[in-house]
Amino acid sequence: MSSDALAIRKVLVILEPADSGLGVANLQVLGAVTALRQHLTLECDLVLCDSSIAQQQAALLVAQVKQVLYPEAMPDSLAETLAPWLAKLADAYDYILIASSSFGKNLLPRLAALLDTQPISDVIAFDSATRFKRPVYAGSAIASVTTEQTKKLLTIRTSAFPAAATGSSIVTSSIATASITTSTAQLVSIAGPATQHLSRVISEEKAVLERPELASARVVVSGGRGLQSKDNFGLVYRLADKLGAAVGASRAAVDAGFVANDMQVGQTGKVVAPELYIAVGISGAVQHLAGMSESRVVVAINNDPDAPIFQVADYGLVGDLFDVLPELIERL
Ligand SMILES: Cc1cc2nc3c(=O)[nH]c(=O)nc-3n(C[C@H](O)[C@H](O)[C@H](O)COP(=O)(O)OP(=O)(O)OC[C@H]3O[C@@H](n4cnc5c(N)ncnc54)[C@H](O)[C@@H]3O)c2cc1C
Repeated sequence: MSSDALAIRKVLVILEPADSGLGVANLQVLGAVTALRQHLTLECDLVLCDSSIAQQQAALLVAQVKQVLYPEAMPDSLAETLAPWLAKLADAYDYILIASSSFGKNLLPRLAALLDTQPISDVIAFDSATRFKRPVYAGSAIASVTTEQTKKLLTIRTSAFPAAATGSSIVTSSIATASITTSTAQLVSIAGPATQHLSRVISEEKAVLERPELASARVVVSGGRGLQSKDNFGLVYRLADKLGAAVGASRAAVDAGFVANDMQVGQTGKVVAPELYIAVGISGAVQHLAGMSESRVVVAINNDPDAPIFQVADYGLVGDLFDVLPELIERL
């Protein structure tokens, strides 16, 4: 630890709304807080961006959290609404962290602009309290960034950090009960944001997931242009179902309309780091690799032995996917 360790720094983690519990991405940001603790002494507060009781309860179970701040009322969770509200809270904090998800990437730059601070995006490691690592050039190189800014606003590449452990997972029906679990966190209500008139939510359609969530799945099967059509992409779903896997895709497959764009893996899609990633009919362009190169084991199925995906694959199968996939599905 450096001399930074002598002073207590205050860290605010902005929790993105989650469908259930705290959400994996938020837990991974808390994993990043644990990594930051190696370099300084810190106090961590969490702030909720919606009025979810389930998330309040889950937040109270996180170890080493001082306060869980929640809004008394929340008109909506738009970045335009949240940024000025969070800017008022920011004074008290030295570090503000959020997941590098579409929510975080939308919100943090707005907050940084209001605070006149340069945000640092996609942090994957802490060299010290003021020096961070982040991928550049679609993950082809890692930059070390030093900042002298007093307030450090960071988006966290969640796949780079293990999810923080939470305390007891006791299911409680009231906040009061939750607050007497193993955690020492205080639940603090604060005034919610003012309604803004620039943007408003007209309606919300949530994707119904029949399979594991792509960003946090242990196994991912992704298909590319090699599938040739939306109907053929059914082979990828069938293989994924056999493996209990999430389904991803290359941008070429998304652009061709085989699948929805929230399934895109890569530089301009989702970043995944599963234990097993199976790439089917995907060439392995650098922009695709940027989203999956952290996977523990990569399997590639491609009929071109020179496809770049084989350079990052642990296991490569050179063959026609229309022969290989049905056989594989049948044998599993
Ligand atoms: C700014 C920018 C951002 C980008 N962001 C992303 C991103 O986030 N994610 C992303 O994926 N791409 C991204 N791209 C696009 C990227 O450069 C590639 O064009 C894209 O990844 C290619 O997708 P693909 O591998 O499915 O298609 P292709 O490159 O066309 O590869 C198809 C592969 O399928 C194989 N194949 C064909 N038929 C068969 C068969 N019968 N059996 C087995 N194999 C077969 C071929 O040999 C080939 O290797 C981005 C590009 C730019 C410029």
